[in-house]
Amino acid sequence: MNTLQEQLQADHEYLIHPLTHPTAHQNPKIWVAGRGSIVIDAEGREYIDGLSGLWNVNVGHGRAELAEAACNQMKQLAYYSAYVGSTNLPAIELARKLSELFYPSINHFFFTSGGAESTESSFKTARFYWKAVGKPEKVKFISRMKGYHGVTMAAMSATGLPAYWPMFEPRVPGFIHIESPYPYRFVNPTPHLSDGVAAANLLEEAIVREGPDTVAAFIAEPVQGAGGVIPPQDDYFKRIREICDYYDVLLISDEVITGFGRTGRWFGLEHYGIEPDIAQFAKGITSGYIPLGGIGVSDRIYEAIQSVPPEQRWMHAFTYSGHPTACAVALANIAIIEREGLVQRAAEVGDYMLRRLQELYALPHVGNVRGKGMMAGIELVADTATKAPFPASANVGVRVQKEMTARGLFTRVVGDTICLAPPLVTTYEQIDQIVQIIADSIEATV
Ligand code: PLP
Repeated sequence: MNTLQEQLQADHEYLIHPLTHPTAHQNPKIWVAGRGSIVIDAEGREYIDGLSGLWNVNVGHGRAELAEAACNQMKQLAYYSAYVGSTNLPAIELARKLSELFYPSINHFFFTSGGAESTESSFKTARFYWKAVGKPEKVKFISRMKGYHGVTMAAMSATGLPAYWPMFEPRVPGFIHIESPYPYRFVNPTPHLSDGVAAANLLEEAIVREGPDTVAAFIAEPVQGAGGVIPPQDDYFKRIREICDYYDVLLISDEVITGFGRTGRWFGLEHYGIEPDIAQFAKGITSGYIPLGGIGVSDRIYEAIQSVPPEQRWMHAFTYSGHPTACAVALANIAIIEREGLVQRAAEVGDYMLRRLQELYALPHVGNVRGKGMMAGIELVADTATKAPFPASANVGVRVQKEMTARGLFTRVVGDTICLAPPLVTTYEQIDQIVQIIADSIEATV
């Protein structure tokens, strides 16, 4: 496998990519190196990593410190399970550290290998909780359109991006979707209320329709990511929390993208002054250097887990829960975030990024520019006055992505929304380059 052509041929013959189809991945980039916010392909070309890998490389590429943390732990003890009768020092230390960083009421942590396992763990814990406190009929889950929670069976059923469903139907019963708050496009059915409250009230409607005694939890990303970077209205989550409290419905915050500084706070709901009952995380906890995820539960849920008789115990487990090497890398990653002040940096550079991106409104087809910290979405439309989208056949998203790649920015486009989530270490100069490349690419496309 020497030449690039041979490598690409082998990729084509043997590797099944995520979201695969013969029309996609025809000429994937073979990434071979990275440093900071730059990734380098097999031809030696450098690109700005506009999406931090897949929203996860928060501390940037090429951190020898994280490799050393993994290497040291592997030499000492690469793996042992955390099943009954076993534990390990990095997992203990990481759980203790997370109890300092997470929302005040969330002090107990279970580890997984990634986001979807975390979603499953949240759902099962929510059902467990209601059974433990004597409300076993509370089993349904409500989520939002444009939400993304992973692709395992229950996570896919909660995910509100219909493209993920058809060939895997039927979805798990008991999963209900409500509309995304989507400030740019939300049509307020109750104009005497703010858009945020009206959008949140759709949750109340759904709970009442389903029967409050049957609903276990509502799951939401603080900022919808894979759906096109959609921060909600500022008053949305406060009303969501009120509704969840009123109807005894748990609130699960999916912080797989928004956790660990991405939005300019350690965790996304901090922006909105509320706390969830369960917070799930993955990606940024290790900056993607090694797979790790997990959930944190509130004290009342933890008490319920502790309170049941042995035969009702929380029979939930993964081989890699509390993986020592992954936990050691997470601790080293968090140490970098703290030492370099990357959460505050994400807030400051993120503000700058959003302000600079808003200059794109000068271009004819830029309909909406939105963001929070180091996450931003630029939605292109056929007509900014009516917000009419481009017809799918125009392939605007795919075309603009090609233009950006050709100019040295590698990122993701969802529909016609350019998504950005560069590493938290991205410099002001790199932000300027990103904005310039996007502007040039839009002009070259539409
Ligand atoms: N939840 C959110 C908010 C995500 O963005 C993702 C992945 O992008 C997931 C869950 C699923 O994570 P994974 O791909 O690690 O299973």
